[in-house]
Amino acid sequence: MRIAIIGNGAAGNQAAAVIKQIEPEHEILIFSREPHPLYSPCVLPDCLAGHLQRANVFLKDLAAYKREGVITHFDEVVESLNLNQQEIVSDKNRYSYDRLIIATGGRPFIPQVRGSRLPGTFTLKTLEDMDRLKQTPSSRVVVVGSGNIGIEAAQAMNDRGCQVTIIESLGQVMPRLFDEKPALIIRILLERTGIQVLTGETVREVRGRERVEEIVTDQRILPCDTLIWAAGMKPECELAAAAGLESGELGGIKVNRQMQCSKPNVYACGDCAESFDAVSGKPVLSMLWPTARRQAQIAAMNCLGQEAEYEGAFNMVVEEIDNIPIAAVGLKEDHLEGEAHILEKENGPNCWRILFENNRVVGMQAVGSLEYVGVVAGLIRKRFSRQEIEDIISDSGLMLRTPWTMEALRRYLPPYVIGGMTGGKPGSIY
Ligand SMILES: Cc1cc2nc3c(=O)[nH]c(=O)nc-3n(C[C@H](O)[C@H](O)[C@H](O)COP(=O)(O)OP(=O)(O)OC[C@H]3O[C@@H](n4cnc5c(N)ncnc54)[C@H](O)[C@@H]3O)c2cc1C
Repeated sequence: MRIAIIGNGAAGNQAAAVIKQIEPEHEILIFSREPHPLYSPCVLPDCLAGHLQRANVFLKDLAAYKREGVITHFDEVVESLNLNQQEIVSDKNRYSYDRLIIATGGRPFIPQVRGSRLPGTFTLKTLEDMDRLKQTPSSRVVVVGSGNIGIEAAQAMNDRGCQVTIIESLGQVMPRLFDEKPALIIRILLERTGIQVLTGETVREVRGRERVEEIVTDQRILPCDTLIWAAGMKPECELAAAAGLESGELGGIKVNRQMQCSKPNVYACGDCAESFDAVSGKPVLSMLWPTARRQAQIAAMNCLGQEAEYEGAFNMVVEEIDNIPIAAVGLKEDHLEGEAHILEKENGPNCWRILFENNRVVGMQAVGSLEYVGVVAGLIRKRFSRQEIEDIISDSGLMLRTPWTMEALRRYLPPYVIGGMTGGKPGSIY
């Protein structure tokens, strides 16, 4: 059987690896518009900052594909798909396939304002983007968007000695991941490094004669020589849509729990695919590396006829700002729809919040210490109720076997939940 994989990122490579592991006899073709073997986009900001050698962003070399028996078609753009004929048309050739896995990733969203693509404007998605940014002399940098890529790009340029301003159109930084209070601490951490943060402000125009000279927002004019668009990622799904594959409500390629698309023998995984959130069950464009790998594993297994169901995308992002770790797991406050309870604690620059919806733990955010984030993430992933947590705690056998769990829970849960252990009296702390 010939399996074609469009995309040489985390998803495409994981799909190829799983297929070769289970049934190595199949022929695998892997396509990429980029010329490089697999690299990690997650470490591009570190490389940009100068903390990591360029050679170390690569996770594979060309010889590794040969060893695995994967046929590479790099620097080759797939231009169209003929799903009825089971055929791929690229800018170099036509290829038939028996199964197709689409793993085309995402692309940065660039707002349609005047001057948005002037020389001196960049995105940070690919290795080429990073190379271009690194080769261009910059001193005053504006980063538009304060998601994790925006924050990392801003810190990298700051570490390069540039004067950096972040512009975020919403009222707080990292609005997709953090609630207002932790976001405020994150903002302070950013400002402490010398980065200027402007929230609730929107870019209206980018001006310059030969290259960017200033940014016009709805509130001011900011002189700058470099602009980095980090205003979000869009799933790269034009190819799939043009071939007649259905899109989801968020604009990604629609897949079922087997990662199958709306036509037979076609699967999608990674940033291009629209799946569902493991905690809320709602449609989601996860855009995270572990999600891409897990979805690829499910797609690969189903494409070989093995039954595997995706359990949903689990949101978990860990960052570091000025050497202070921050983490967001599961849902945030404005996602909660049922009866909501929030446990929170602030201690100077440290803070954590745990979110409950209908008595189930559904989210956590932490700034300053990530000591127990893993334990609580496990509880969120398994959708534990407060009652179940209480039962675990009151099971002294379990406590003896895993005292570390008890210590973690003691720190995060209200006294009445662990009252059975501590002799504390029930009472609400909300
Ligand atoms: C700067 C940055 C930092 C990040 N940090 C984190 C992080 O800390 N944690 C985390 O979990 N995630 C992070 N991510 C996100 C993570 O990198 C992505 O979720 C993951 O790489 C997605 O993998 P993918 O295989 O779906 O897509 P991609 O890696 O985007 O790969 C898509 C592939 O498709 C190919 N392609 C697309 N269209 C065509 C076509 N028509 N023809 C041929 N080839 C095509 C591309 O060439 C590419 O090889 C970060 C991303 C960036 C950019």
